[in-house]
Formats: sequence, structure tokens, C-alpha cells
Amino acid sequence: MDRYDTLVIGAGVAGLTAARLLTKAGHRVVVLEARDHVGGRVRTERANGLVTDLGASWIHGIADSPVAAAAEACGMRTVEFTVGGCQADSRPIAYYGPDGVRLDDAAQLNFVEDIRALDAALVDVIAASAVDASYRDVTDEALATFGWSEDRVQRVREYLEHRSEEQYGARIEDLAAHGLDDDQIEGDEVVFPDGYDALPESLAEGLDVRLEHIVSRVEWSGHGVVTSTNRGRLVAAQAVVTVPVGVLQSAEFAIEPPLPEPVAGALSRLAMNDFEKVFLRFPKKFWDDDVYAIRQQGPQGRWWHSWYDLTRLHGTPTLMTFAAGRGATETRGWDEQSVVDSVMTQLRRLFGDLATKPTSVTITDWHADPFARGSYAYMTVGSSTDDHDVLATPIGGVLHLAGEATWTDDPATVTGAMMSGHRAAENILGRAVAFNEIWASSGP
Ligand SMILES: Cc1cc2nc3c(=O)[nH]c(=O)nc-3n(C[C@H](O)[C@H](O)[C@H](O)COP(=O)(O)OP(=O)(O)OC[C@H]3O[C@@H](n4cnc5c(N)ncnc54)[C@H](O)[C@@H]3O)c2cc1C
Repeated sequence: MDRYDTLVIGAGVAGLTAARLLTKAGHRVVVLEARDHVGGRVRTERANGLVTDLGASWIHGIADSPVAAAAEACGMRTVEFTVGGCQADSRPIAYYGPDGVRLDDAAQLNFVEDIRALDAALVDVIAASAVDASYRDVTDEALATFGWSEDRVQRVREYLEHRSEEQYGARIEDLAAHGLDDDQIEGDEVVFPDGYDALPESLAEGLDVRLEHIVSRVEWSGHGVVTSTNRGRLVAAQAVVTVPVGVLQSAEFAIEPPLPEPVAGALSRLAMNDFEKVFLRFPKKFWDDDVYAIRQQGPQGRWWHSWYDLTRLHGTPTLMTFAAGRGATETRGWDEQSVVDSVMTQLRRLFGDLATKPTSVTITDWHADPFARGSYAYMTVGSSTDDHDVLATPIGGVLHLAGEATWTDDPATVTGAMMSGHRAAENILGRAVAFNEIWASSGP
């Protein structure tokens, strides 16, 4: 049996980044990927002339972003779209009150200022929070310091629930107090009108990627690593495992001997989320031209409260909303028409009969995807931000976990995935590697 230098499990951005750097350094590397394509949770659908990013779509801040640098080097076109981080007001947003009537400028400004005040107060409350505090606990504690009317508190409280669900796909009671600590946006946000998948496609060029190789077992020892797949066994001196947290936690993916501490503990405190995208395409735009997003307040917005106007990407009138947290778990199992009817009921509240039937709809199902098991990982109550980096502690000098969930500074993102793949390669090579080596033109 051939013995490779490194086996990389998973051809998402983390795995491809690690494989690329190791291959460039002269290592014999094989990437094992369960799907019939590379990219993992960066997945672009192309149908009827429409390009739809089903997984990642934003770079959440292009300032000093390695992903922005890589995308530029790959010649990927971008469109500015700075509302991806659930911001209250970074760009024009149309807010509708609980009665379904659009807020005037003064009412909207008051609401946004309340969010800013809350966010400022939250910093110290989170810093002083107990290990087992949830994001609900800390936000309620911060809200209680203001003495606002019940109605004012309720609007902000509800916004915070939406933030937890939309940013992390987790109910606010389930998310750790520190669960949104990484939520900073540096610079504009951008999306990719031609599809985000150009990034993993470029990273994969020239690599030995074996598609439709489902890894079921990884055995490690002082001698190296043996992996079992549906197409046989492969042996290497080292392995980089980049499968999502949900796969790592499943019975279908065995690591033998089992992950030691502190890695096992860190893994047990993270969980895959509930987060799906709903794309609705219309014959005609019925919402304002000059807004990036539409948001509604009040109990009617329990599931469907925010719609993002993607029309600027391709000219086809398109709104995207998220089934996130409760919206995802409570609509799971519904057929497409029922989800569309439910979303359209809310749009008709705001726009009346102008909100016509969509001409096409796409709804993702990352939760049912056996190679993702959710969209990304979140910090459950009791976890600490360090748990991400702890996951990447090298094991026995031969096994390295990488992937979005293993990067404390920017988990749940393509950036986190890329940085973690770079770190795994550095750990294996035992030396620093310039970041731009990832996209530098020489080899593999
Ligand atoms: C709906 C959605 C929206 C998102 N939005 C954004 C966004 O706007 N911006 C952003 O930065 N990030 C976003 N993300 C997160 C981002 O997509 C991920 O953080 C990133 O792509 C993860 O890369 P990775 O390499 O860590 O994991 P993956 O891309 O999941 O790669 C792991 C690979 O392992 C493979 N695999 C799994 N099991 C096995 C097995 N048993 N054997 C072999 N191979 C296996 C998988 O098929 C996959 O290809 C979003 C994700 C989703 C799903």
C-alpha cells in the first residue's frame, strides 16, 4: 500500500488550503472528499442562467481579509453588500413596525440608537458573565440597566433573538454569552455575482483530490494514520481532518483511539446549527429600490423578519431570507410550497397584493446533508471562545483537526476555514509559511 506524507480529509476551503500549501512544499498529499465536487459548504448552484450561492456568500469585511486577497488573485468579481452581519443600519434598510407600517426616519433612528446603546453596555456584561451564561442572560442583564418602556425593551430584545438566530443559527437561550464575540466587520462586505465556488475550484487546481471517497474511520498512532473509506484504505505519516463538527460528532466517523483531552471536551461544547437560506425570485420588484434589506418588527416576524435584496447581483428581482434557529427547526419537514406560503403571508402584510407569487424558489437543506449536518458550528452554553483553537491542538504529532470551527478569531466563516488550513500546514511543516503562498502562481 502506498504511504503518503499527508492525507487531507475534506475538500472544503480548509482542506484545500492545507493540501495546497503542503503540496507546494513538496509533500505527497491526497485529499479525500465524500462528495462528487470540491468546495464543501461553499456551493454554487447554476440553473436557468441564475447563479445562487447555497452556502457561504459573503466576505464579512474585506479589510485585511485573506479571502478577499485570494478572491482578487483568482480574478473573482465582487459586489458590495454590507448587510451580511445582521447590522441594524450599516446601509439603507427599510424597517416596518409591529403594525406592518414602515417606520419613519426618526423612529428608525431611535431604534438603531437603542441597539447601539445596548451593544455598548453588553461588552462589560459579557466580560463579567458566568461560564454557564447564555446570550439571553447577558442581553437581558444589559437591557435591565436602561429603564426603558416595555415596548422599547421588547423591540430590542426581539432584535437580539433575531441576531442570535441569523448570525449563528442558534436560539438565544442556547448560544453561549460569548457566542457572538467574533462578530466584528472590518470594511465593506462583498458577495460574488459569478459564484463563491470559484475560490475552492482555484484552490483545488493541480491537487490530487479523490472525489466520492467517504471516510468512515481514522486510526492514528505514533507511526502515522490509516483511513478507511468506501473505496479502500490509505496510509500516511500525518492527516488533516477538516470534516464539520457534526460529522466529527457522528457515529459514522470514528477516530481511533478516540480524540484525547482537551480536544474531546472542546468538541463536545460546540454544536451544528439550524440555518437555511430561502431564495425567492419575482417577476417584478415590489419593494423600494434604494434599500439593501427589509426588516419587520413584532410577533409576526417570529420566523420571517429580514429579507435581503439580491437584485443587484444579476438584475433578477430576488429576495433572500433565512430559516434560522426556531424558524428552521419549526418549519423542518414542511414542503416547499408551505414554506413559501408562510414567507409570502409576511411579505403581503407589508406590501399587500404587490407581493406577487415568486416565479422560482430555492430552499437549502444543510441540516439533512450527511457531510455537513448543519450550516456551521456555534458555541453552546458552557463553552469558551478558546474551544475553537483548542480543537486544533495537534494529536500525537500525526493528527490535525482544521476547519471553520477550529479558528477562534473568525469561526463559522470561509476566512476561519482558510486560516485553519494554513495553520495545519504550518504545524505539519514545522515552519512559518507566507499566507500569499496559498494563491501564489507557482505550483502545484
Ligand atoms: C447556508 C450557509 C451560509 C453561510 N454563509 C457564510 C458567509 O456568508 N460567509 C462566510 O464566510 N461563511 C459562511 N458560511 C460558512 C462557510 O461556508 C464555512 O465556514 C466554510 O465553507 C467551511 O469550510 P471547511 O473547509 O471548514 O468545511 P467544509 O466546507 O464543510 O469542508 C469539509 C469537507 O469535508 C467533506 N466531508 C464530510 N464528511 C466526510 C467524510 N466522511 N469523508 C470525506 N469527506 C467528508 C465535506 O463534503 C466537505 O467538502 C455559510 C455556510 C452555510 C452552510
